[in-house]
Amino acid sequence: MILKTNGERLWDSLMEMATIGPGERGGSRRLALTDADIEGRNLFRKWADEAGCTFRLDTMGNLFARRNGKNPEAPPVLAGSHLDTQPSGGRFDGILGVLGGLEVVRSLNDHRIETESSVEIVVWTNEEGARFYPAMMGSGVFSGIFDQSEIYTHLDPDGFTVEEELRRTKQLGDTPCKSFPIRAYYELHIEQGPILEAENTKIGVVTGGQGTYWTHITLHGQGSHAGTTPMHLRKDPIMGASRIITGLREIVLKQPGAVGTVGRLETKPASINSIPGQVFFTVDTRHPNEEILANINLDLKNLVNSICSEEGLENEFSIIWEAPTINFHEECVTKVRNAAESLGYSHCDIVSGAGHDACQMSHIAPTGMIFIPCEGGLSHDEAENTTPEQVAAGADVLLNSILASANH
Ligand SMILES: [Zn+2]
Repeated sequence: MILKTNGERLWDSLMEMATIGPGERGGSRRLALTDADIEGRNLFRKWADEAGCTFRLDTMGNLFARRNGKNPEAPPVLAGSHLDTQPSGGRFDGILGVLGGLEVVRSLNDHRIETESSVEIVVWTNEEGARFYPAMMGSGVFSGIFDQSEIYTHLDPDGFTVEEELRRTKQLGDTPCKSFPIRAYYELHIEQGPILEAENTKIGVVTGGQGTYWTHITLHGQGSHAGTTPMHLRKDPIMGASRIITGLREIVLKQPGAVGTVGRLETKPASINSIPGQVFFTVDTRHPNEEILANINLDLKNLVNSICSEEGLENEFSIIWEAPTINFHEECVTKVRNAAESLGYSHCDIVSGAGHDACQMSHIAPTGMIFIPCEGGLSHDEAENTTPEQVAAGADVLLNSILASANH
């Protein structure tokens, strides 16, 4: 049996949610645990309440809206994402996963379908990490990756802690934030990249997430006068850095699917007529295969050492963060693919370029993700856009994946 959702209703809900914490260019600004974020959550709560859901709020503010199944003791099927946004956020990143889950519940109601397992819509706290570090916070504590008491002490730029803001906004619930048996977790999300649009494909069957390394590199040379120091006598770390950065591009280009980014570059002293004595820069490298990613970073380390010895520089090379590659659950991935196939929607397998709550959940529950294309691959910007047709297709796949898991 193949069911469809009500795409128009879902689109209307997305547009109504976007008016809360409105941005200047049609997007939204709902930083985690601000009044705007809570107003968005309350609107979701009202809608889920009208759809007959019951609620649990946990000690990280993660909100679960439940539609009971025939067998309330059986592990539930979860669908969720986040309602918080970037400072100049779009209308779909995260919101689609939550309101897509709501649309699934509304559609099950429309069709008077009773599922075997219960279905729960989850709103995870602070996925974006734009106000409180780190990203994917609520789902990370739930999955046992982060420690709640430590996370509670994290500060926003104004000096408020996570715990204070959870209390102030009445989001500190009484259900302990820890995992429970879950039949399957599904997350519907915009791709946030250009692949599906370029391939003219409706549905991305997400097989996993790529691994990430963050590296800090500092090069030490000899600061000196820009006019009096002959080129061949210099120990110039910015020249070394520029060779390393172009070398990084060559290393990355040799591996299809790899990406490498230098997002910060700082010279010391930063002065137009001084050769800097020190240069600091960051490198972010990603690839879906753990071994290839490790090799890219080994090649980078070797490159840094060889260029430093040629340029007469010393270096400090430290990997400050390593996120493992994620493989979603074979059974969930297959259910998503089968749903897209049965609905007659074009689809392809895809690896997520960004982190998601689903990545945290994959450590404790069978997890799958569904991507839909977004305009120009743009995200984390108010210009983020997709179409009512694409949103409806994604929700249809979510509905049928959930049905397949809930009626095992
Ligand atoms: Zn998101």
